[in-house]
Amino acid sequence: MTPSPKGSGSGKDGAALVLFSGGQDSTVCLGWALDRYDRVETVGFDYGQRHNVEMQCRDRVRNEIARRFPAWSTRLGPDHVLDVASFGAIADTALTSEAEITMLASGLPSTFVPARNLVFFTYAAALGYRRGLHKLVGGMCETDYSGYPDCRDTTLRALEQAIRLGTEIPFSIETPLMWLTKADTWALTDTLGGAALVDLIVEETHTCYRGERGLRHDWGYGCGACPACELRTRGFAEWQMTRAASGKMSKGF
Ligand code: ZN
Repeated sequence: MTPSPKGSGSGKDGAALVLFSGGQDSTVCLGWALDRYDRVETVGFDYGQRHNVEMQCRDRVRNEIARRFPAWSTRLGPDHVLDVASFGAIADTALTSEAEITMLASGLPSTFVPARNLVFFTYAAALGYRRGLHKLVGGMCETDYSGYPDCRDTTLRALEQAIRLGTEIPFSIETPLMWLTKADTWALTDTLGGAALVDLIVEETHTCYRGERGLRHDWGYGCGACPACELRTRGFAEWQMTRAASGKMSKGF
């Protein structure tokens, strides 16, 4: 069920830059890219996130991937962290301030940072231009986040075209999770790296909007109640049910 890469990326050739936050989705994307490309670098954005725990997860996840997957470690190149604090100052929402997470009149949650992915991919393209990395990989997904307009495939296809025109480089924006449910994402994790990658996601990645790391659930750490934790919980449970129905052992997760 591994989805085909979009854009020009296919086969084990080329070089990719993964938008990497230390969360579940971008970690799966990193594994996806390492499975396909000879050279993979990562980029993170420091825009004054409320929870520095996310930034702290990045190094641990990268180190664990290199340790657990020797074939991938030779392909994993440098990490880059770009300071986009001025963008964080503009996008004053629940993720970057102490405001409560609520639904706004627009129908979007207050965690929505306007145009974030447009900014991130544009920065990634500038970095990729310098580093010779023309496949830009991100964990955006329409299936669970249909309210986020900058996660939509049509938005990112238009941005890809703008980046190609603006750089005269055939960049591709690749979003392997775009049409997957959260249960599908867990299944993809298993396909890419088996129990070792599933365990890495559970133990090391951070998704919780509230920055909670004290509570350990079968799907990982988090408050268990915020929208991100609810999605992760439900997806894990659905994946486990699917596995049980197909007769696969749960391997103790
Ligand atoms: Zn949470």
